[in-house]
Amino acid sequence: MDENYPVELLLNLLKIYSPSGKEKEISNFLFLELRKLGFNTEIDEVGNVKAVIGKGRPRIFLCGHMDTVKGMINPYIRGKVIFGRGAVDAKSSLAALICGAKKFKEICDKGEITLLAVVDEEGYGKGIRHFLSKCNEKYDYAIFGEPSGTYGLTVGYRGRILLKISCKASKAHSSIPQFFDNAIYKAKNIIDELLKIEEKWENIKEEFFWKPSLCVTKIKGGNSHNVIPSKCDMVVDIRIPPNMMKEVKKEVMKIIKKNENVYVKKLSENPPFLESENSILVKLFLESIKEISGREGRLIKKTGTSDVNDFAEKMKIPCVVYGPGNSKLSHTEKENVSIIEYLESIEIIKNTLKKIIDYENKRSIQ
Ligand SMILES: [Zn+2]
Repeated sequence: MDENYPVELLLNLLKIYSPSGKEKEISNFLFLELRKLGFNTEIDEVGNVKAVIGKGRPRIFLCGHMDTVKGMINPYIRGKVIFGRGAVDAKSSLAALICGAKKFKEICDKGEITLLAVVDEEGYGKGIRHFLSKCNEKYDYAIFGEPSGTYGLTVGYRGRILLKISCKASKAHSSIPQFFDNAIYKAKNIIDELLKIEEKWENIKEEFFWKPSLCVTKIKGGNSHNVIPSKCDMVVDIRIPPNMMKEVKKEVMKIIKKNENVYVKKLSENPPFLESENSILVKLFLESIKEISGREGRLIKKTGTSDVNDFAEKMKIPCVVYGPGNSKLSHTEKENVSIIEYLESIEIIKNTLKKIIDYENKRSIQ
């Protein structure tokens, strides 16, 4: 691989505006680009690009997303830093996986790599869900591309439940409110009760990752300025650490069920993700960070949710999440990544893939 290629590839990805739902151009670009790099490529019904290189065991799955949040920032380089929409979340991670895999294949003919570039990670995870619904393949290891910083490795994401709560009442003239239920007041009461459990969770003496949280993210109610509201709908976004899914669901449902004429619909659910710190993949990755950079790798548990949650739940194989860039800059106007750290992350990925092969070889000899 030409030494300028990684930066060129990243700039090319950043030049294509690809907010969730509008990934066609970047998907076509990657289809051709990965083919040029020697991968067998295909595009599925929803626009995911699947690219395979090499064959045999182990089978390693790499996954990054092509979409970004809305708001184009034209890419530019200042000093040794690349700016642009997606520079952090997560086109530098995706490009690092692609370059890391290609460079690995230049030095090792063992093992098969499947690279999946998905759509809609920032939306509703349509890309990974479609892939999982069709996939009967078995993989041995998986690395997802999301910013962890070049010397960090993400091993946890909380789970998520998204609920729509609808409060109903009958319409009546607003000059006689004392005789009728008001759907907006009902919603207010529910919010007050939800905030009480949120406060209780906040007081749990643990890091953020190990506490549930909830947030009312949308609300809409009322019919007219002179009618007692008959309807109020709200969306509640609940984030849940591993081992608390059942408990949290029960607590929230108890509040909702206490109220008459209140209905709930689950809009989506993602399981929590937690990779054991003793997992061989975590061990090899940390060794790789140390070998390439001389630094101790740092394990990270994130409060959000990503595509790895659904994948790990279904596949039950070692999974980690890695990529250059400071995730605090994700979705901001200041997204940028250091070229040096980006290039270093590529070497770390390549070295990790090599270490997986060496580990598997040793295991098959024993
Ligand atoms: Zn992302």
